[in-house]
Amino acid sequence: MSHKNRIVCFGVLLSVAAFAGLAGCNASGDAEITDTQAGEGPASSSNAAKPSGATAAHAIASAAAPSNGALPQVNLQVRGNAARRVFGVVANGATPDAAAEAFRQRSAAELGVRADEVLPARIKGSATPKNAPTANAGGVGLMYDSNTGKPKFRLYTYEQQRDGVPVFRAGLRTLVREDADNPVVWANSDLRPMGSFKAPAALPARRIDLGKSLQAARAHAAASGRPAPNALSKLSSAAPTIFAGVEGQTTAPRMAVRYTAQDADGPGKWTFVADAETGDILHVESNVHFDVAGSVKGKVITGGEAAECGVFGTAPLPYTIVSSAYGDIVADKAGAFTIKQTGTTPFAISSNVSGKYFQIDDAGGGSNYIRMWVTPPAPADFLHQDTTTPPERVLAQINAYKAANELRDQLLSYVPEYPVIAAQTNFRINVNVSDTQTCARTGGAWFDGDSEVHTINFCPRDEEHANTAFRSIVHHEYGHHIIDSAGSGQAEYGEGMADTIAMLFAKDPKIGVGYYLNQCSSPLRLANKLCKYDATQCTTCSGGMYDCGSVLSGTVWDIWQQLDQTVPASSADLIRKLVFSSVLLHSGTSIDSSIAIDMLTLDDNDGLLENGTPHYNAICAGFTAHGMTCPAIVNGLVVKGADLSSEGLSAGPFAPTSTTYTLYNLGPQQSLAFTVAIPTTARWLTTNKTSGTIALGQSTTVTLTIDQAQAKLLADGKYTAAVQFVNASSGVGTVSRDEKLRVGAPVPVYTANFSDGPQGFTADGQDENLWHRSTACADTLAGHSTGGSLYYGKDTVCNYATPIPIFHAMNSPEITIANPATAELAFKYFLKTENSSSADRASVLISVNGGAYKLLASNNDLTAGQKLKEGNAWQDLRFDIASFLPGSGATKVKLQLAFNAGGIYDNLTMGFAVDDIVIYAQPQTTSQRPCAGYCTNPTAFNGAVSYQSGNLGTTATCHETTVPIHGGNCGNFVSPRKLYVNGVAMNCNWANWSPLPAAKNGGYCVYTTSGNNAWAAFSTW
Ligand SMILES: [Zn+2]
Repeated sequence: MSHKNRIVCFGVLLSVAAFAGLAGCNASGDAEITDTQAGEGPASSSNAAKPSGATAAHAIASAAAPSNGALPQVNLQVRGNAARRVFGVVANGATPDAAAEAFRQRSAAELGVRADEVLPARIKGSATPKNAPTANAGGVGLMYDSNTGKPKFRLYTYEQQRDGVPVFRAGLRTLVREDADNPVVWANSDLRPMGSFKAPAALPARRIDLGKSLQAARAHAAASGRPAPNALSKLSSAAPTIFAGVEGQTTAPRMAVRYTAQDADGPGKWTFVADAETGDILHVESNVHFDVAGSVKGKVITGGEAAECGVFGTAPLPYTIVSSAYGDIVADKAGAFTIKQTGTTPFAISSNVSGKYFQIDDAGGGSNYIRMWVTPPAPADFLHQDTTTPPERVLAQINAYKAANELRDQLLSYVPEYPVIAAQTNFRINVNVSDTQTCARTGGAWFDGDSEVHTINFCPRDEEHANTAFRSIVHHEYGHHIIDSAGSGQAEYGEGMADTIAMLFAKDPKIGVGYYLNQCSSPLRLANKLCKYDATQCTTCSGGMYDCGSVLSGTVWDIWQQLDQTVPASSADLIRKLVFSSVLLHSGTSIDSSIAIDMLTLDDNDGLLENGTPHYNAICAGFTAHGMTCPAIVNGLVVKGADLSSEGLSAGPFAPTSTTYTLYNLGPQQSLAFTVAIPTTARWLTTNKTSGTIALGQSTTVTLTIDQAQAKLLADGKYTAAVQFVNASSGVGTVSRDEKLRVGAPVPVYTANFSDGPQGFTADGQDENLWHRSTACADTLAGHSTGGSLYYGKDTVCNYATPIPIFHAMNSPEITIANPATAELAFKYFLKTENSSSADRASVLISVNGGAYKLLASNNDLTAGQKLKEGNAWQDLRFDIASFLPGSGATKVKLQLAFNAGGIYDNLTMGFAVDDIVIYAQPQTTSQRPCAGYCTNPTAFNGAVSYQSGNLGTTATCHETTVPIHGGNCGNFVSPRKLYVNGVAMNCNWANWSPLPAAKNGGYCVYTTSGNNAWAAFSTW
């Protein structure tokens, strides 16, 4: 393509320092600026695709040379035979407005345009009014100075009209620098000479010729290499305009109309300028910014077999990242993507086998990378494939990527909020791993949950084994990640569940077909074996970890077969939902009947397993076929609810105050009669129902409540009442539930909940001591007071990876226990470690009166009295510490929380957290009794309201009760002997005391002076 940039026609500038005269240049024939494509990229077949910005930038650069000896301060850029840009000082004025106006007047004259035809216009978005009488007042400020708040320049915009009709794309822009003399430093002209053209006073009937428009649009599209429309739609109305050429083309002015139309079936959109009389198309231009749609696919093994045994096909690669100058975008689940508003210029676009959720690392080479050029809106379809023979390394990338994504999609479709995975991006998959030792040791594929960054790993082909990056093995390894993310253990459960997950995806029990090179009829394992559970060896099959695992995979397979019979339309959804959810319920590494309870609970819809679940038969057929048991379906009476365990000081109150049970009638009786019997000795417990009936399938509630008044009459101690819930109709389901009450329990004398800080706890000074108050990680889980806890771990990663795995402690402030006789310690804790008998030691210790710390509780130190248990939830612990303390007297103690990782490996679980520490003890002062202050050594009569003293004798007496008595009387007193109740002398004539004095210190003190008769006496009720 030719390339000439010339600045020409200097001569005509001599008259004024404004625009080039126009006519004089035509004859010279060399007033031409053409351009070439700027920048890199493939050759385009179409001039129309050239970005106009490149032209202008290039041309201005060329025009920078001084152009005119007579007016050296003015530079001019010319296009065609018209001035395009003027720069350098070309006019001045007292104000910016005046300078702009002076330039408008002068340039209009130079162009053969009347000044009143160059009218102020409104730049899109600016507030300058249209049709203002002179230049748009004030212009638009540009390049504001942040110090002065004033613009450096003002921009004035004009459009050209003749006889009130706008000239198509014609106008003028002027830039004035705000300065002492306000120079016009730049102008952009699209003014077009109108000569003697006169717009008709009455416009001809404006017409749009749809056929000519379509033809012009098709020609324009064809020249641009874009899809041509078959029909046009969405025609706009036609607006009058004068057409005198566009850009570098100049034609004689004529009356025209402008309108727009769209491709009826595609994204194309055009602006047309047509002769107002004939409808002939004078000018057409594309208005569309195209969207580039595309897809990312890969050539993969379609099934679960190794490459040597599989069938190849093309499949979408979901969520791949596609890169271009328009930024990175993520393909959708079907591998499809759209890059919006690309303009029309060809651009480069690339894809490799990695995406939003999985990043493929090929140890044997780089990622399979495809780069292509696309001319909008042509589609950009990527096909990743392994072109070697036989395919292996690149195939491993594609297979692993696809398989991991599809399993992740399936998991989240059933459990959208699955821990870790729901929010995880860029999970790393290593393929063609070159670590031959680990490849040999693991059998060629493994999940790494120990390193800080978890990965799944696949080895290349060797003499015996296929490349392991194929679907059933990828699903097995990612299955381990699913299990790990749930907080469950691996070992036999992990292997069994990982195989189950691989089997669930495609309903194919064959795992690892072709793992042994070219053995295409023998899978590595089967997920539908009939191994049975064995309590000692895990399985009746050979007993290895994988056979043990097959107890679980075989159970799930059999449940699925059963569901296919009973609910064929929903069996696949149901079994996947049950299994994926059950992983979250499981803890530990073992496979046993507890998994049946987990699945039944998930299947259940009424909170009652005793009456079965919607798919009880199918689920339990699977478990029983593999030697595990389901909770039996029962009939008769079923009682659900928590038993009472209340406590309080000697005088109460006791809490919790009540509990409510739900009683169900599971048949076969249409109406089940029940009774609730509290032992007669347990006067401290009451029920709201002693009997009743329940209709078949229905339930009723029974509330047991502590009788606070009766309970505080009890001597300190622990009481249990066995309450009988009796099925009076058939006896089936009659059950006894134990309600507990503790009288004289110690009360909290020290609490720490860390809601506002460490509350005096301090970490020891050892390096890398991870103890701190935390509001992250375990603290965010329910089951303890909110707003802070003490945590051995890192808030950022929620584990305790430490380079210094030694004994690290968090020490309490000194705590004084006034009365240590019945002291107890309670706290809540979260403990999740590698669960080893030696490493990761969590402990709680106590120092008494400055002595050495002694162990109170530990997860793995057998010398400690209390066991701290591993788990995925906060747990409660409360125990007696009186044996560590002196029998009486104020005692100073310090508590210590400690953790010792013991090694630098396997420290990637949550760790140890403690909250809600409470020390219970008897209150510092014993509470006042009713006779305090009246008499000493009272005889207590707390047994009942009804009491007869019997003969009091002749000496002074002292009796007290905390029972809420209602009245009393006395007699056989001889003056001056007196009887007092709570300090009030009573008449002792066997008349009822009236009124009964108010209670004091929770009761009544009845006391007498000495005297006669010896048979004086009193009664209460
Ligand atoms: Zn495994």
